[in-house]
Parts: sequence; C-alpha cells; structure tokens
Amino acid sequence: MPVDYKYLSELLFPNVTMTEKELEEKYPPRDLPEGAKVTRFAPSPTGFVHFGGLFPSVVGERLAHQSGGVFYLRIEDTDSRREVEGAASALVRTLSHYGISFDEGVTEDGESGNYGPYKQSARAFIYHVYAKRLVAEGRAYPVFSTDEELEEIKTADKKAELKSVNWETDASARREAMFARRNFTIEDVERELSAGHKFALFAIAEGDGTRKRKVNDLVRGDLELPENDEDVVLLKSDGIPTYHFAHVVDDHLMRTTHVIRGEEWLPSLPKHLQLFSYMGWKPPKYIHISQIMRLDADGSKKKLSKRDMGANLDDYSRLGYCPCAVIEYVMTLLNSNYEEWRVQNPDKDYTEFPFNVKKMSSSGCLFDMKKLDDVAKNVVSRMTAEEVYENFLEWAKTYDPDFAALLGDRDYALSVICIGRGGKKPRKDYGTWLELRSYMEPFYDETFKVEDEYPENIDRGDIKGALTAFLESYDHNDDAGAWFEKVKAICAPLGYCADMKEYRASPEAYKGSVADISMMIRVAVTGRMNSPDLYTVMHIIGEERSLARVRSMINKL
Ligand code: GLU
Repeated sequence: MPVDYKYLSELLFPNVTMTEKELEEKYPPRDLPEGAKVTRFAPSPTGFVHFGGLFPSVVGERLAHQSGGVFYLRIEDTDSRREVEGAASALVRTLSHYGISFDEGVTEDGESGNYGPYKQSARAFIYHVYAKRLVAEGRAYPVFSTDEELEEIKTADKKAELKSVNWETDASARREAMFARRNFTIEDVERELSAGHKFALFAIAEGDGTRKRKVNDLVRGDLELPENDEDVVLLKSDGIPTYHFAHVVDDHLMRTTHVIRGEEWLPSLPKHLQLFSYMGWKPPKYIHISQIMRLDADGSKKKLSKRDMGANLDDYSRLGYCPCAVIEYVMTLLNSNYEEWRVQNPDKDYTEFPFNVKKMSSSGCLFDMKKLDDVAKNVVSRMTAEEVYENFLEWAKTYDPDFAALLGDRDYALSVICIGRGGKKPRKDYGTWLELRSYMEPFYDETFKVEDEYPENIDRGDIKGALTAFLESYDHNDDAGAWFEKVKAICAPLGYCADMKEYRASPEAYKGSVADISMMIRVAVTGRMNSPDLYTVMHIIGEERSLARVRSMINKL
C-alpha cells in the first residue's frame, strides 16, 4: 500500500503547531530600498576565529552597508560536538574589535532584531514546520538509525562526492542502500516510534548525477555542477537540522539576498537549490570565497590551516597588529583595485572604497605575512601620534604591563612616536605594537641595552677616540647643523673622511668615513646600528642620559 504521507507527517511531527503562513507573517520581506542587500555572517561557534573568517564578514558587511541594506550575525550551532562554551560572545567581541558591526543578530549578551532567534539551536520549532510539510508532500522520509550510523552514511557519501564517482558502477551499492532507506511502510514507522526510537529526516533527491545543472556564483559566473542525486539529511535524530536545511530555511526567513560563504560549500549548491525549489522559494545570490592559501617552504601552495601562523585572529592581537591594518590587508586581497585606490586616497576610511564584487578574484588568495607587514607599516605611518599612543598603550596594558607603566609619561612617549611622522613621506619604522615596543626600547633606561656589536674590522682605539672627542666638543644647545659639523670635525684626526663624496672617490685613502663615526656614536647612545636621526634621538633622551651612555661605552671598550 502506498504510504499516506500526510498521515506520516502527523505521526512524525505531532507537536508542530505553527503554520507556514504564520512564519511568513512573522518574518515578512524586509522593507528596504530597491537594490539594498541583506547579508549575514554565519559562523559556527568553535571558539576559534580563523583569519579566513574576516573575508566573508568584510564582504557581507560592505555589500550590505554600501547598498543601504542589513548585515546580521547568525550563529550556526547545530553541531553541539564542535561547540565551545562562550564562543559566540567571544566571536562578537573579536569581530567588533575588527570594526565589523552587525545591524542585528546575536550580540555579546543576547540578540537583537525581528528575524530571530539568530542561534540555530533555538530555531527547532521553525525547521520542524517545513520538515513536516516536506514529509506531507512525499519529499522527505524518516530513517530510524543511530547518529553513528548516519555519520557512516554521510562519510560514505562525502567520500563518493570527493572521488567524483562513476554512477553506473562505484556508487551502485550506495544508491541501493539509499533506495532501501526510502522503502518503508507506515507500520514500520509506527513500530519504531512506539519503541521510542528517534529518526533522522532525509529529503528525496530528484536529480540525476550524470547530468549537469547550471548554477551561478557572482564571482565565478555560471558553473555547471552535477545535479543532486543524494538524499540529503535534513534533520538529525535529535531534531536539529543539518547545515543544508538550516541554510535554506534561515536564509529564506531572514530574507537574505546574498549568501557569502566559503568555497567548500560550492559542491553542495545543487542540494541547496533543490531544497529551495522544493520549498517554492527564490534562492539568494551566492558568492563563494576561495580558501586562503599560503606558500610552503618548498614553494607549493598550501591551505592556511589552523596551526599556521596568522590563521588565528588571536595571533594578530598578541603581536599588536592594529585591527584596521589587518582589515586593510584583507581589502587588498579582496578587491584587485583597492591598493590603487588607497594610493589616491591615503586619508580615507576603507569603507569609502566602492567595493565591487566584479573585482574579486575567484582563485585562492595568497596569504603573505610580509605583505601584511608592509600594509601595517603604511597604516601606522598614516596615524596621528596620539592614535598610535592610545592604541599602543591599550595593547601594552594587556601584553606588556611593565612597558605600559613606562608609557605613563605621555608627552615623552609622544615625542618618540612623533619622530618622522606627518608630511608626505612619513617614516615607516614599525607596523605592529610589538615592533613599536622594540623601537622604543632605547628611549628608556629600563629597556635600553646595547644590542648591536661594533663591526670587527673597526679599530677599538678609533671608537674610543671618536667617542671621547664627541664628549669633549658636545654642546646640548647646538642645532642639528652645528652638531653635525662637530661630528665631522672628529673625522680627520682619526684618519676618517668627513666628506662622503670625497670618501667614495678614494676610499683607500681613509680608514672610514663620517658615516662610520656617526655609527660609533649611534651604537653608544641607542645600542643599535640603525636608529632615526641621531640628533633628534639625543634630544629626546636628553643630555645627561645620552652622554652617560657614551661614557659607559668608552669604559667598556
Ligand atoms: N556555518 C557555516 C560555516 O561556518 C556557514 C556557511 C554560510 O555562511 O552559509 O561554514
């Protein structure tokens, strides 16, 4: 006897009380201007925020806010095994640290907006309304198995998907099993239910895997993917939906216009489109973001995986990257014309850039820490000294409290940060707060140390002589010009050349040049071979401390 699906739906979902009509009314189409996009970020709360997560979130945020639309946060916590306590709040905090703000959805301590609940675990009552309908229409059926058995089915399906099966041969056993699952009677179901057994719900696939269907991705264009001929699990035996079902129901009811997600979901797109069509709903537009790759030591490209440096957003906080620098870097990877725009608009906020989906690359972005560092240096060089100070202090309070204490003398710290700032060609000494910390070490006795050795080939007697002569002629009131004249004057008696041009013309005639003499003083005062303009540095450090360092170096030589 053919199964009475209407009856079956009542058997399986006796407690569904809401109707689809009620849900449609509760979550009406959004009242937004023409062309406004509704996007979302929909992470799973695993407690780990991957650098790659910034890509869909930045794209979603830009597309929504650039068009006067809505950007919301949905937490996809349907896999309780992967869930980590407090991860959702931490995620909201992390994203807001990166300046990514949501108009609605899950917040740090709850949620806001009219299209909730925004945590999938709280939406079972909604999914069941549609599950019941699909059963009533004969498009979904129950399977009474344990979750482990279902897991096995899923893994087998996944493997087959990856191997790109030959449908005539390899997959036949799997397909037979699938057909066997579809074959049941109402009596079987009644028996299982009265024994208290739980069921998973599968959707009947109508496609033919040997045929292709056209799908569209806004970045990749029209693609051809095999039709879906796999019965998709809609609900697991705990009644919680799979990603596939939740995606379709949620993005319909939350009125998402554009789904921006990782490319790992691209092969499942025919499944999703089939479900949209079963439901009679218009699917959203899709953008699948490529995986972030990195170059391996052997030059090959590898996926930026969890353990790689830079994969975890916490790495950036620890190293003291300004969140805006990380976002700036993400923008350069996302839109091919961003860097050009930045050169023309050095002072504008990145949100003023006209973000264009057409300029996104469909091949994987290559993560390059060096490039990030360059971007970070540029970003920091464009900040005001006050901005640098405030951000650095905040970072130091968490990651280096001893140094934060030194920063208590705000004016002194600012005088260091001001070196080479402003103007057309600002200095780019540091891109992270950790680098700034190192840059500032010579300016505090507490952190000053002689890091660089004098080169072996320089006569120790010459160094002593130069430093002694420097001390003797030093006058803190000299201006930069007079100061340098005195440094030059040290040269000749020691056999060094005071004029660089002359020195370059006949280097063999001298022991060295005024550059070497300056280096001797620089290492004594700053402990390093490289520093910003030494005259400026000495005037920040002050006469007493600078000369004390020179004296102490003389004694050590
Ligand atoms: N929870 C899914 C993931 O983290 C979301 C994919 C999507 O945005 O639809 O991969």
